[in-house]
Amino acid sequence: MKPVQYLRPESLSALERCLQQHPQAQLLAGGQSLLAAMRLGLTQPSHLVDLQDLPELQNIQLEDDHVWIGAMVTHARIAAHADLQRQHPMLAQLAAGIADPQVRNVGTLGGSLANNDPAACWPTGVLATGATLMTNQRELPADAFFTDLFTTALLPSEVLLGVRFPVCASAQYVKYEQPASRFALVGVAVTRATRPNNRAVRVAITGLGHGVRRWPQAEAALQAHWSVQALQGLNLPEDWAQSDVHASASYRAHLSAVLCRRAVAADTGESASLRAQAGPAPPWPHNPAPSARPAALLEGAITGSHHLPHPLRSVWQALLDPAVLQPCIAGCDTLQRLDETHYSAVVKVGLGPVSARFVTQIQLTPVRTPDQGEPTECHLHVAGDAGSLGQGSATVVVHMHSETSDNGNPGTRLVWHATPQVSGRLAQLGNRLLQASARSLSGQFFVRLTQVMGSPNMASASGGFFYACCSRLMRWLRYFFKR
Ligand SMILES: Cc1cc2nc3c(=O)[nH]c(=O)nc-3n(C[C@H](O)[C@H](O)[C@H](O)COP(=O)(O)OP(=O)(O)OC[C@H]3O[C@@H](n4cnc5c(N)ncnc54)[C@H](O)[C@@H]3O)c2cc1C
Repeated sequence: MKPVQYLRPESLSALERCLQQHPQAQLLAGGQSLLAAMRLGLTQPSHLVDLQDLPELQNIQLEDDHVWIGAMVTHARIAAHADLQRQHPMLAQLAAGIADPQVRNVGTLGGSLANNDPAACWPTGVLATGATLMTNQRELPADAFFTDLFTTALLPSEVLLGVRFPVCASAQYVKYEQPASRFALVGVAVTRATRPNNRAVRVAITGLGHGVRRWPQAEAALQAHWSVQALQGLNLPEDWAQSDVHASASYRAHLSAVLCRRAVAADTGESASLRAQAGPAPPWPHNPAPSARPAALLEGAITGSHHLPHPLRSVWQALLDPAVLQPCIAGCDTLQRLDETHYSAVVKVGLGPVSARFVTQIQLTPVRTPDQGEPTECHLHVAGDAGSLGQGSATVVVHMHSETSDNGNPGTRLVWHATPQVSGRLAQLGNRLLQASARSLSGQFFVRLTQVMGSPNMASASGGFFYACCSRLMRWLRYFFKR
């Protein structure tokens, strides 16, 4: 592995040159997330470009209608800023509630926003205030900045310079901490604009699992009537939240509504009545209710349906043939047949920002073969170990029946249901990212299967493994006798 080079530009133009010259470089703020990701092998920049010498990114400036905070300002500086505490208490309080003094002394506003952790506090404060993010290339409204979890609208060469927060008539952030990391299990920010004729309300929530988001129903209710009462009976849809090792989706959805009421109560002074209505903080979900889904199980099964322009028997045999399977599995380095139904494989999988190498055991169980009638059924149990990153497994049920294609040729309809599970660090990536990766891998598998089955080397898959061995032997013999 090449050593990482350290660069420390002293002006914006020098910084831009660094990024142009080294496209694999990564910006370094406090390193609180970046260095941890590098240590885990999740990212391998060629250069680290340290932002600490850029004065443009360091200042806090208060104006009549907004406050400017540079991207490199640490959480500790924001928390301790006397004018901010007085004029924009939510920003100072939000910063003061982040993690512990060590993280606050080094972690930065810009790093937190660029990282866009789905449990981070700053994205909520920025989205709820309707702030504007300034980069070296453009201005971005908060609504356009947070595009997905761990993903923002920032381009690879773009540097976040700072954030312009508008002054609000009211702004409150309430978070319920996950006690080990002190990240938000759920955090809710509620703001009300200063304009006398348009007291627009914005509500943003972090910790749901999909990334920060607004809650338009609560905003409409509060705009109609600025009180805790306006929120009574309003529940966050459960499918907006994810279950994980820390809490179930229903717990997170419930907590969001409770925290939203508390944020409003902190402004209206209705705290006492809030307690009577909302009750005490819900108990910590050490043992999620039996109805809650297991912690690292992806939400629901993933299903797919494909038409393959080959007769059912050919498809069936191809699926039992390692010579066919290996090129169909994206990132599959090796696939070895251990016995009739067991295989081992090494597969590299890209999961969003993470690249994981799984040592995988596969068990293939034919349940109903073509000789026994249609639809045929085959079960696939896959268990992969990605070392320190965690483990993944999936049970896939595949059904197939004959289906004539549009041009009258015999074909096969293949329907599959997969129930994937991940644990360890991989589980922290969140269901959405894992779902997207699982879907993309499965989609690629069937596209490749169609291509492999249609290729001249696979003129007939009807011989399955035996056919593949024979054709390899024939190729080898032809090669040998030509020499
Ligand atoms: C134990 C722990 C608990 C935490 N708890 C919380 C919490 O409760 N709430 C919360 O909000 N946060 C929390 N954090 C996050 C922390 O506050 C940091 O802000 C976050 O980890 C980012 O770190 P950093 O600022 O050092 O940026 P880095 O780690 O240096 O950078 C993070 C990413 O942002 C990019 N980047 C940095 N600056 C810029 C820029 N100016 N322009 C473009 N890209 C940039 C980097 O290239 C990198 O990809 C916690 C962190 C830890 C380690």
